[in-house]
Amino acid sequence: MKKRKKLKRKILSGFLTLCLTLFIIGIVYFGYKILFKEKEKEFLEKIETTAYIDIDKYAIYGIHMNLEGNFSLPETSNEITLLLTDGKTEIPIEWELEEQGNNTYHFKTSEYINEGLVLEDLPIGQYYLVIKTKNLDEEQQEIIKYYSVTNKSDYENLEYYTLTKNHKNNKIDIEWNTYEEIPTLRFTIKETTLPEDVYDITIDPGHHANDPGKTACSDGSTPDDYYGYCYSGNTITEADTNLEVSLKLKEILENMGYKVAMTRETKEDVVGIYEKNGSATMANDTHSKFNFAIHHNSSGISGGVSYLKGMELYIANDTNLDFAKLLVENITKEANTTTSPKELYKVDDGIYQRFFTEEEIAKDDVQPSNKTTNTIYYYYIREVGGVSTNATNDGRYYPTYEKNEHYDSNNTAESYLFELGYMDNYQDLLNILNNKDGYAEGIAEALQKYLDQE
Ligand SMILES: [Zn+2]
Repeated sequence: MKKRKKLKRKILSGFLTLCLTLFIIGIVYFGYKILFKEKEKEFLEKIETTAYIDIDKYAIYGIHMNLEGNFSLPETSNEITLLLTDGKTEIPIEWELEEQGNNTYHFKTSEYINEGLVLEDLPIGQYYLVIKTKNLDEEQQEIIKYYSVTNKSDYENLEYYTLTKNHKNNKIDIEWNTYEEIPTLRFTIKETTLPEDVYDITIDPGHHANDPGKTACSDGSTPDDYYGYCYSGNTITEADTNLEVSLKLKEILENMGYKVAMTRETKEDVVGIYEKNGSATMANDTHSKFNFAIHHNSSGISGGVSYLKGMELYIANDTNLDFAKLLVENITKEANTTTSPKELYKVDDGIYQRFFTEEEIAKDDVQPSNKTTNTIYYYYIREVGGVSTNATNDGRYYPTYEKNEHYDSNNTAESYLFELGYMDNYQDLLNILNNKDGYAEGIAEALQKYLDQE
């Protein structure tokens, strides 16, 4: 009996302690919230209402956000900066500012689609995009003013999940808002876990069960022209080779902590192009930040003696080459291979940019076509990049294909097309067959180095 009473008392006092603890936590939490809101209000009330920054374009490509716009200031300023701020913390954003006279300006965060504001490292919190001007008054006192932004683009709010790092992710809500009739662009960064359908990276092992791609024979002999099979040695298909390298790459990236989506994981899978989770759509269906299309090349020269050999990396339009150079450097090192001697479309050692030519555009039998000579030829790159890479397939051009749902998206993945080696150069073929891990390691290593330096 006594024991039971004691137990009852223990439970009661435990319950009261818990209530008290929750009460204190509540007070501290809401107190902090109110204080935080006050600080935010204090900052927003400082914003000038005499001028606004027009944002004409903004897009996320991979891990970067790019902004472009115009503004006129009511007065001349000595120092103008673009930044994200909560009134206390200031995160400066690099930009190219061009004065056009009469305190009128045009700005761009970068001329490259894979440069601009890095979304990965923004600290937890709530920030506003503003420009800050600094002037001195007659007494040499600093006068600081803040100007907010208005949305003159065709786009609305954006949602971004950072790459997985130590099993953690941040979610960034980029929202157009108003505060007491002042338009604002607010960045809210919170810690989260990835929703089931959100991934870090997509790998697209080129070709599939109904489309073997190039073929080669394991003894270096030339496969039958029409059927692609070998009279001696084993028949090696590009589809299988691409898949083996891709599976290895997936394993390495997953060991590094990334969540990896693949357009196919078996030799039997058939992959579409513009359908859901197809080669041109999966990276965006899964909100991936990077898309790697893995392929192997051929020159069409028989006898295993193709003068073309080594790797070629195809990249998007208007890109900074930092990541591409790291990919070439690390793949050639880890896979013990070379860059291709091919000169056509080359922009740097091992790096290629293939655009539609005037002839190809003129020949295009499905009109109207909005392709230009700055439109990337390969859909693995062009369509994945949405507005940043001038995706073209809105459903008009190829009635037999499905529409690319992401063709006008301004929130897309940075895409690379790898031609890892020439299957009809015997030396390359042997290296490819014996060294798949090396190719995969080179890609993964380059990614890590790129992210570390960004
Ligand atoms: Zn291919």
